Amino acid sequence: MSKLRFRVVEKAFHKKPIEVTPPSERPSEYFAKYVFNREKMFKYLPSKVYAKLIDVIDNGAALDRSIADEVAAGMKKWAVELGVTHYTHWFQPLTEGTAEKHDAFVEHDGKGGMLEEFSGKLLVQQEADGSSFPNGGVRNTFEARGYSAWDPSSPVFVVDDTLCIPTVFIAYTGESLDYKAPLLKAIQAVTKSALDVMHYFDPSVKKIISYLGWEQEYFLVDEGLYAARPDLLLTGRTLMGHEASKNQQLEDHYFGAIPPRVAAFMKDLEIQALELGIPVKTRHNEVAPNQFELAPIYEECNLAVDHNMLIMSLMRKIARNHGFRVLLHEKPFKGVNGSGKHNNWSLGTDNGTLLMAPGKTSEENLRFITFVVNTLMAVYHHNGLLKASIMSATNAHRLGAHEAPPAIISSFLGTQLSKVLDHLEESTNNELVALGDKQSMRLDIPQIPELLIDNTDRNRTSPFAFTGNRFEFRAPGSEANCASAMIALNAAVAEQLTVFKKDVDALIEKGEPKVSAIIQVIRQYIKECKPIRFDGNGYSDEWKEEALRRGLDCETSCPLIFDNYLKPETIHMFESTGVMNRKELAARNEVKWEMYTKKIQIEARVLGDLVMNHVVPVAIEYQTKLIDNAYKMKSLFPADEAAVLSAENLAIIKEIAEHTAFIKDHVDAMVEARKVANRITTEREKAIAYHDNIAPMLEQIRYHIDKLELIVDDQMWTLPKYRELLFVR
Ligand code: ADP
Ligand code: MG
Repeated sequence: MSKLRFRVVEKAFHKKPIEVTPPSERPSEYFAKYVFNREKMFKYLPSKVYAKLIDVIDNGAALDRSIADEVAAGMKKWAVELGVTHYTHWFQPLTEGTAEKHDAFVEHDGKGGMLEEFSGKLLVQQEADGSSFPNGGVRNTFEARGYSAWDPSSPVFVVDDTLCIPTVFIAYTGESLDYKAPLLKAIQAVTKSALDVMHYFDPSVKKIISYLGWEQEYFLVDEGLYAARPDLLLTGRTLMGHEASKNQQLEDHYFGAIPPRVAAFMKDLEIQALELGIPVKTRHNEVAPNQFELAPIYEECNLAVDHNMLIMSLMRKIARNHGFRVLLHEKPFKGVNGSGKHNNWSLGTDNGTLLMAPGKTSEENLRFITFVVNTLMAVYHHNGLLKASIMSATNAHRLGAHEAPPAIISSFLGTQLSKVLDHLEESTNNELVALGDKQSMRLDIPQIPELLIDNTDRNRTSPFAFTGNRFEFRAPGSEANCASAMIALNAAVAEQLTVFKKDVDALIEKGEPKVSAIIQVIRQYIKECKPIRFDGNGYSDEWKEEALRRGLDCETSCPLIFDNYLKPETIHMFESTGVMNRKELAARNEVKWEMYTKKIQIEARVLGDLVMNHVVPVAIEYQTKLIDNAYKMKSLFPADEAAVLSAENLAIIKEIAEHTAFIKDHVDAMVEARKVANRITTEREKAIAYHDNIAPMLEQIRYHIDKLELIVDDQMWTLPKYRELLFVR
């Protein structure tokens, strides 16, 4: 081990867990301590203002500017009591993070002093320089500015000394420049069209809610080891590194005992998350060594997205306090599992019914099947788009590898639900049959077993699995903003439910009874969307061929997958639901392509540096030692004997020479390929060039570096190895 490597490894090895003192209250008491929730609104706002604000939050009423000042005053009073001095509009630009600009509450008081000031105007709207964030050419620097506007449906919260106000981020010309604005529109669209459909079954329902429960996977790495790996530091993943002799093959990490230092981190994280109103519930080890998972109780989709963004920044911050760095990259280590972010999605009513949960009566089950089948239809028609919504340079490493959902979107239903759909498809009975004198009705579909609720018949290889009362979209990446997937899914389902309503109403107008009309349309849909249903092994090669035959999107190139956003049916879907227009979609794609290129470009540069500054010099130094030895052998022994004794060394000398020659050649070729790609002026073509010509070189070069790592003297190797990164904690 090189001296530096020895020092960091030894230090990491001896680190003790940091004591975390939990608050003296119980979690139920400190939950949402730093959130301006209803309880605090009630306490800090005049009752009239409170009522108006609740109407805005619950019913999407327009925010009356006249109350903004009073809301701001109440918020400020609450915040100042917590020692807050600053406020910020907190928004989600098209990078994967969040953005904030802090301003102090202070203003001149006109008498030479200062006073704490926070007006309704500052709460509701702020100017922000849109051109400094990715905007895909929607705005040029010289155009009017963008602005951020308060989203009252997500409560404001306090982090350290700052009041954070969740906002949308839009250009003055109206185009959205962030994830939240289209997400809110997609949620509005799906809840409206789902409500219309729900009224077939229960006219008393007033409101539909779109839910999201995410599961966040991540790795923890000791900060010293992390700092000694420039690739982790700059790209979030290891660009080289030979697999450790032991990996996850013993399956001893999943659900294993949580290491004490990690447990202290989790405890700290959970306390702070609960204080911020994030209902964290589940934690466990994941499949790979040093990989873990965190999941909250599901929430309204927009709030859940905010909470996921918040938890990712909390993780980054708290990990540091425990001497760790959190890796949110989808594939930090080759050869071990990557990290995803499962998005559990469902729709529910204001009276607590989950639309995708089977019920006890036939009517309830017809409702259940209606929403399940319409979801399948949406996923079927927009499978390419859904894949595009989760695609990125980083998630590309995970999809299609033998560990995560494949790069083809299909849906797993399980045997029971599949049987129900098959039966309905084949049956000819469209009636609900009255059961004797009882009020309840029987539908000619088999009884749906209660068992379905905890669908044990899980299929881990399916990217979009039905899991009892919801669908679990498993393809999103661990680093991504969930909103991207949720915009596409909610909008696609919204469009589909509108079509369904039209189809059913058309039959009703022709005199068909309602139930019969619904069943007929559902039956036709079950036939139509069959290609999306797949319960087999999603990792198999047969499935790839089969999926192609079924007409599903099988593209694997990231830049080409983004084309799905600009297909006519996608544009039509987003425009008809009012979520995004063609111009916004085009601009977003420019950002996606540009980000893709930049990520690969940075990786290529970092790998080039690693090679020239770490790998090749060390390999040559070791090779020189061997050469020196071979010469000395010659002077000690007769020539023929020396040749035999040095044979092994000579072979290694040659091997090192071959690997280093390949590496140097290809690093040079990679630089040339980048120069060529950089001259391309359209973002799409440039991204394609980076995908086709540069990304594969990273892998080729890596192969030879990893071989060198195996043969070079461990005492000389400067970079922490996989066995240290993954097993020292
Ligand atoms: P698993 O890893 O077995 O899939 P977890 O318990 O880790 O399950 O995570 C399940 C996630 O799904 C949790 O966030 C949970 O709150 C969420 N969830 C449960 N029911 C629903 C639902 N109806 N709609 C949306 N999310 C849900
Ligand atoms: Mg899950």
